[in-house]
Amino acid sequence: MVDERFEKYKILIIEDSLFNQTLLRKILQDKYMIETASTVQKAMEKIGTFEPHLILLDIILPEANGFDVLKNLKQLEHTRNIPVIIITGLERDEDEEKGFLLGAVDYIKRPFKNAIVLARVNTQIHIIEQIRMIEQLSLMDGLTKIANRRAFDIQLQYEWNRAVREQSWLSMMMLDVDKFKEYNDTYGHRHGDFMLQTVAQTLKQDLQQVTDFIYRYGGDEFAVLLPGLDAPRAREIGKKLVASVGDMLFSAVGEQNLCAHTISLGTATMQPQANQLPAMLIERADKKLYLAKQNGRNQAQCE
Ligand code: GH3
Ligand code: MG
Repeated sequence: MVDERFEKYKILIIEDSLFNQTLLRKILQDKYMIETASTVQKAMEKIGTFEPHLILLDIILPEANGFDVLKNLKQLEHTRNIPVIIITGLERDEDEEKGFLLGAVDYIKRPFKNAIVLARVNTQIHIIEQIRMIEQLSLMDGLTKIANRRAFDIQLQYEWNRAVREQSWLSMMMLDVDKFKEYNDTYGHRHGDFMLQTVAQTLKQDLQQVTDFIYRYGGDEFAVLLPGLDAPRAREIGKKLVASVGDMLFSAVGEQNLCAHTISLGTATMQPQANQLPAMLIERADKKLYLAKQNGRNQAQCE
């Protein structure tokens, strides 16, 4: 039984015979979005536009050998992670072995039972679903439920490359809870955890019109990416944030009769150049954060 969520998954059928295309479409279309391509060229175009999660590949195509197509798919950067199921009339064990060696995830021989094709496709989609879930979890911080340091590194590199290409501004904020160790030591880790969750939720709420890129950088430190924003704009947002997170911590944490805390924040802004590294932006924001701590905390220091 396939979950209804699977409907969103897309399958490309590369198959020259209209009869076979129609048959496979019939088997799969109730649960999946289906596209078909009868030539390799059309298939490559469809992969770009349709972005399938799974490919069903016929081995005997009029103008190409399906094994070569598979080899090519497994070599190209943008297609190598798309699982391919071979569906073919080639019955020899050697062909089946060759398909697996070239990277196919399954090999279905004709003639087939419709229910078996559906079951084997379902199995592959289930694996894709699991991989996506693990990927998502690996980018999330378990305690605060916002993105983690790993997600930050990936997004920073992406935004950095874009800013280099477009010669645009890239700002970031680094912020840290003030005297958090003392708070933990006084009230215990459970309350400390609650404070970190409150900071994360407040950042998300306050920045919802500005950016989605909010991360738990580590411990009591958070990072925010502000693509396209120049220094004055980053400064304005940073200053507001120190006040509003402080207010929020006062009401949320203060409600439990615990001493509420503040945050310190540093912003940095660059127009990244090709010969520079993204670590520079982090270092600069870090320096400003350090300055904010030195200057007495509960403040933003900005470039
Ligand atoms: P400063 O104002 O200079 O930032 O002082 P601080 O006490 O906040 O110093 P620091 O940032 O070094 O302290 C971080 C503390 O955060 C130490 C660590 O025990 C605590 N911490 C890190 N991760 C967690 C967590 O997941 N939960 C809780 N409760 N505490 C954490
Ligand atoms: Mg701290």
